[in-house]
Amino acid sequence: MIVMKFGGTSVGSPERIKSVVNLVNDDKRKIVVLSAMSGTTNVLVKISELFYSGNKDVTAEIDRLENKYATVINELFGTEEYKHKGRKLVKERFDLLRSFYGVAFDAVAERAVLAQGELLSTTLTHLYCEESGINSVLLPALNFMRIDKNAEPDNYYIKEQICRELKSYPEVKLFITQGFICRDANGEINNLKRGGSDYSASLIGKAINAEEIQIWTDIDGFHNNDPRFVENTKAIRELSFDEAAELAYFGAKILHPASVWPAQEANIPLLLKNTMEPQAPGTVISSKTEEEGIKAIAAKDDITAIKIKSGRMLMAYGFLRKVFEVFESYQTPIDMITTSEIAVSLTIDNITHLDRIAQELRLYGNVEIDRNMTIICIVGNNIMNSKDSIAKVFKALDNVPVRMVSYGGSRHNISILTDSEHKADALNQLSKYLF
Ligand code: ADP
Ligand code: ASP
Ligand code: MG
Repeated sequence: MIVMKFGGTSVGSPERIKSVVNLVNDDKRKIVVLSAMSGTTNVLVKISELFYSGNKDVTAEIDRLENKYATVINELFGTEEYKHKGRKLVKERFDLLRSFYGVAFDAVAERAVLAQGELLSTTLTHLYCEESGINSVLLPALNFMRIDKNAEPDNYYIKEQICRELKSYPEVKLFITQGFICRDANGEINNLKRGGSDYSASLIGKAINAEEIQIWTDIDGFHNNDPRFVENTKAIRELSFDEAAELAYFGAKILHPASVWPAQEANIPLLLKNTMEPQAPGTVISSKTEEEGIKAIAAKDDITAIKIKSGRMLMAYGFLRKVFEVFESYQTPIDMITTSEIAVSLTIDNITHLDRIAQELRLYGNVEIDRNMTIICIVGNNIMNSKDSIAKVFKALDNVPVRMVSYGGSRHNISILTDSEHKADALNQLSKYLF
């Protein structure tokens, strides 16, 4: 079996939904994972904010989104019978949204609101398959996708449930399910964070031991730099799991940060493809490692740098352990770290507990905090071995104030920390010197 995931743009209009159905309608047995139609999750986020603040504009916002879906139905379905069925499905989802009006709105309600986009796109696509005479089964992700109390996927449960569902339909070739949404340890609706449909696809691929996990999106594969900030970036044909995981974790938006790991653990190739250009080769991510050298650059924003300066204690053994324990006790991962004789600098992106972390760190030294930083991550196979890679990076960043550098942590990564205002310049300069 294979898994094929289609992102928001790929199902962003009735035309696109029809192309997707065309693409998946062959003899190969597959699970198709769909995102919400592009723009929908953003509107649902806005609707949640309006619910939280008790703002009356929420009804107008819900109406606007519902009208958009009314147009989708008119264009997607050919017959009055199916337009009617489509309207019924959409009404159910919007009745649910409106049911939050006037009641206390909390995080549980918010997650139910955010789930409606994927529920809409999948039920409409499934209904369109039915109208077109294509046999497909809708697998509700809320029946098998689950995270535990640490927000980690419950792999055993996912595998057991999904395999049981698949067994009940031995003849069926096409299964459709929602990306992004899941249940949590309390059985409530939750999600795998923004962009999480990639992660859903990878978790499903691992659970069914798929031959391949295909991520279909609006670009012809993984590019060597962020195309939103740099012109003339190029698609990379092959990446290793380690390289792709690093790039995704450090901000390459084309993949959810955690989406490479399940595929890597199960050694299932990930193929990135362009829905608008299905013949283009795309990018294969696999365990294969190719020639040495720098392959790609990514950037992760909203980073906070923390410097702890302590003349007395730093070189004393046990100091770093105490510092790390502070972050551990607030379940806050550290991304980058550098040390000198009198100070240690590190970065985090989750600032939920920043005040308390800073307060505890002050027991060990003077603490300085810089917000709005960006990590720029330069990735390639064995860049440590290619003698001039670090020289080229520094040359490229001649005019960019660099706050931290991390080199040697792994064989395939150089990370730089800079103020976010220098990000675009740094990415462009690096592209110019490295590619
Ligand atoms: P989808 O909705 O299909 O999940 P996303 O918008 O999440 O699509 O991801 C695709 C987008 O990621 C591209 O349109 C591109 O702008 C952006 N992107 C950022 N970095 C990269 C990169 N290194 N390679 C390709 N695309 C990238
Ligand atoms: N619809 C969700 C989002 O917009 C999940 C996804 O598209 O991957 O973040
Ligand atoms: Mg995405």
